[in-house]
Amino acid sequence: MRHLRNLGSQFSISLPTDEEGLIGRECPLAACEGYFKLQPGTGLKGDKLPCYCPYCGHGAGSDKFFTKAQVEYAKSVVMREVTGALLKDLKSLEFNHRPRGAFGIGISMKVSGKPTALRHYRESKLETEVVCDRCTLRYTIYGVFGFCPDCAVHNSRQILNKNLELVEKLLAVAETQEPPVAQRLIENALEDCVSAFDGFGRETCRVFASKAVKPEKAAEIRFQNIGAARDRVREQFSVDFAAATAPADWTHVNRAFQKRHLLAHKMGVVDADYLSATGDSPSLLGRKVSILAPEVRELSGRLLELGRELFTLLEAKP
Ligand SMILES: [Zn+2]
Ligand SMILES: [Zn+2]
Repeated sequence: MRHLRNLGSQFSISLPTDEEGLIGRECPLAACEGYFKLQPGTGLKGDKLPCYCPYCGHGAGSDKFFTKAQVEYAKSVVMREVTGALLKDLKSLEFNHRPRGAFGIGISMKVSGKPTALRHYRESKLETEVVCDRCTLRYTIYGVFGFCPDCAVHNSRQILNKNLELVEKLLAVAETQEPPVAQRLIENALEDCVSAFDGFGRETCRVFASKAVKPEKAAEIRFQNIGAARDRVREQFSVDFAAATAPADWTHVNRAFQKRHLLAHKMGVVDADYLSATGDSPSLLGRKVSILAPEVRELSGRLLELGRELFTLLEAKP
């Protein structure tokens, strides 16, 4: 039984990474079982660091996050080693006694068979890749938003920044186009700014809602109307994410959001609601609203600051 004994009682199995250097993980909570991937060697350094599920935030030892397919694979590696060693040991016991005399019976033992097969698996494709800006972990998830599996920071602000960077690029492209196309790109860039902030704001409030007085209300705050959102956040979380913004800058942000509303719902034609929300000249009534690239660029910059402020304030709440 030499081969079998040499195996010892402990196996260390290294799991292969996929073609992008990522390794699959699965949340151990039965209610979640969320699948994600991360790149070993990036992120926090140290032994026995906990892992966090990007979807539900559950934290546990990283040895709890193996996927079912990985466990099956690991078991099959062990089985293969054991059956392989067993076969070798049995082979060494092979014998062949020839029959002797007229009535002798010959007995032989011949070992045949192969070690059990490995249970190979493939990691799945995911939708969003993030390099955590706090701990540098590279990870991929379904959807867009999630917690960093290493440092547990939520990525909503990072996603906002990424989307606002895209807005800058869109504006740069607009400069190279003829006027009608340029105008459309600038309008799209404005639309993108607002949706990026809306997605970010809602997600950030949802994630930190457990700290609010009325969590279900906090999760419903819409950010397409930034003035109303500011009031709701003040009510629910008792923080003002625009407190540090100069009044003139806030007016600019508000006007840009109102312009987006006209573009999305009124074919860009100025109405009375727009005038009362912005205080712009009544002579603009019925005229087409104008949007210039510098306005959108400035909005993008302000939203970056407002986003940082909202995230920081909500994260810091006890
Ligand atoms: Zn989970
Ligand atoms: Zn991180």
